[in-house]
Amino acid sequence: MNTEPGRAGDAAAEAVAGKYWAVRHSLFSLYDHGVRMDAEGWYSVTPEAVAAAQAARATPGSLVVDAFSGVGGNSIQFALRGCYVVVVEIDPRKVELARHNARIYGVEDKIEFVVGDFFHLAPYLKADLVFLSPPWGGPSYSQTQVYTLDLLQPKDGYTLFQAAKKISPNIIMFLPRHVDITQLEELSWSSSPPLHFETEENYVQDRSIAITAYFGIVAH
Ligand code: ADP
Repeated sequence: MNTEPGRAGDAAAEAVAGKYWAVRHSLFSLYDHGVRMDAEGWYSVTPEAVAAAQAARATPGSLVVDAFSGVGGNSIQFALRGCYVVVVEIDPRKVELARHNARIYGVEDKIEFVVGDFFHLAPYLKADLVFLSPPWGGPSYSQTQVYTLDLLQPKDGYTLFQAAKKISPNIIMFLPRHVDITQLEELSWSSSPPLHFETEENYVQDRSIAITAYFGIVAH
């Protein structure tokens, strides 16, 4: 049996893929060119159009840290934008999938892949922009009426934001669509002077799927 992640033999990936198969090209337009996913990748990856819009805020030639990158949907779009990207992802199997997918998109040489814990590495990193797509808590994240920042995994949103600010004051966070916007605003005020702040609702085929929060120079 083939147990390589993202290949046909991965039973968990296959089960999840069944549900997401119809939207595979909205996740990766080059899906048919050999993009690989694991079970989590199917529901975690940022849809390509959304990832491209987020990447459009970055300055070409700038350095972007993409933390919690999963199978690489965001880092690919930043690289296509002309940025240099440092991926920080704790799961080595996902890093291999992200590297493979970056190759499919022709941007592998624009991305450095680091297997590690973002919270351990953040104090040692500097960049122009930090992109954060942290774990929302699995598919059950939608069960609360308001998504508060303490629900983010593996650490709460305040700790996450402080860690990211050590790298850069310019931060993009990809969050559930029912996230508490007031709490996000508080994050921008936690800097002196306060960071520019903007939120954007993200849609796929007229369906609201998430909120992107922009801090610093990437906020319009
Ligand atoms: P979601 O709830 O959005 O499905 P996941 O649980 O898939 O999120 O997590 C997003 C990604 O973040 C995964 O690829 C996971 O391996 C990675 N990740 C989790 N914790 C860390 C960490 N401390 N540092 C870096 N990457 C992490």
